[in-house]
Amino acid sequence: MYKKILKMIKKYNTIVIARHIGVDPDALCSQLALRDVIKLNFPDKKVLSVGTGSAKFIHIGKLDRLEEVEDALLIVLDTPDKKRVDSVDVSKFSDVIKIDHHPFVESFQGLEYIDDKASSTCEIIMDFLLQTKLLVNSSISELLFMGLVSDSNRFLFNSCTSETFSLVSYYLAKYPFDISQAYQKLYLRPLNEVRLEGYISSNMVVSEHGLGYIKITDAIIQKLGVDSASAGNMINDFNFIKEVLVWATITEDIKNKQIRISIRSRGPIINHIAEKYHGGGHKFASGARVKTFDEAMDLMRDLDQVLMEYNSEVKSDGN
Ligand code: AMP
Repeated sequence: MYKKILKMIKKYNTIVIARHIGVDPDALCSQLALRDVIKLNFPDKKVLSVGTGSAKFIHIGKLDRLEEVEDALLIVLDTPDKKRVDSVDVSKFSDVIKIDHHPFVESFQGLEYIDDKASSTCEIIMDFLLQTKLLVNSSISELLFMGLVSDSNRFLFNSCTSETFSLVSYYLAKYPFDISQAYQKLYLRPLNEVRLEGYISSNMVVSEHGLGYIKITDAIIQKLGVDSASAGNMINDFNFIKEVLVWATITEDIKNKQIRISIRSRGPIINHIAEKYHGGGHKFASGARVKTFDEAMDLMRDLDQVLMEYNSEVKSDGN
C-alpha cells in the first residue's frame, strides 16, 4: 500500500492535506510533516496543509490557507469519517488517500491505509517515510516525534510497541532535534490552565463504579479565563487515579452551541457509548458533542452502566 500511496503522490502536482476537526497535535504534526516531506522531495509540487488551527499549537507550525484547487489529490490524515474532515469536501478531489489509526468507520473511496494498532498517525507516517526511503530532515523528524508523543500520552499507552520505540530511535539518531524544545512546544501552558486542572480535580464527581466526571459551565470557563477546548485537552492528565477507571470532561461551548465531551478509560471499551451520542473515537479514548447537559448526563449513566458490568465481569473472572 505504501508504494501505491507514493505513486499517487508522485502523480499529482497539487496536493491538499487535511485532518479532523478539533485539531490536536497528532493530526496537526502529521499533516505538517507530510507536507514538508513532499516539498522536500518534490520541490515543484504545490502542497497545502489545511484546517482550522488553534492558538494553543502556534509553536508547532503554520497551516496553509485553503485555495481553490483543480485536479488535486486530497490526503486525509487521522480521520475515520467524512463528516469530521476539517474544511474540505472530500468529493471535490480527483483522488483521495486516507491514512489513519482510528478504528475503521467508512471508506473514502480511494487508497486507504489504516492501522488501528498504531500509537498515532505520526507513527504510521514515520514508517511510511522509512519504507519508501523519502528524504526527511530534523524539523520533520521533530514534528513526527511531537505527534507520536502527544497521542501516546508520552508513551504511556499499550499502543506503544517495540516498533514505536524503534521508529523513534531511528529518527532521533538519523535526524536529531532538541528533545526538551519539542516537549516545551507541546506542554508549556498558561497558569490559568493549571488552575483549571486544579478545579477539575477538586470538583470531579466519582461514582461507586469508578466513573469520574466534571461539568464545566461557561461561567467557570469565563471565571478561570480558559477556553472551551482546554478541559478536553487536559483529559489525559487524569489517568492513574486509583478510584477512577473511566473519566470524562463535559464542557459548555457557548460559541458553537454545544457540549463537548471527552472520555478516557483504563478499563472497559467506551467508543460504542460515544457512538450512541453521535461521537466516536478509539476503544479507550473517545469523544462526543451533544446539545444539552441532560444528554451529557445520559451518556454518563451509560458509561456508569458499562463500568458496573465490567466490574462484575472482572470480579467473576477473579473468582
Ligand atoms: P478527544 O477527547 O476530543 O481528544 O477525542 C478522543 C478521540 O475521540 C479522538 O480520536 C477523536 O477523533 C474522537 N472523537 C472526539 N469527538 C468525536 C466526535 N464528536 N465524533 C467522533 N469521534 C470523536
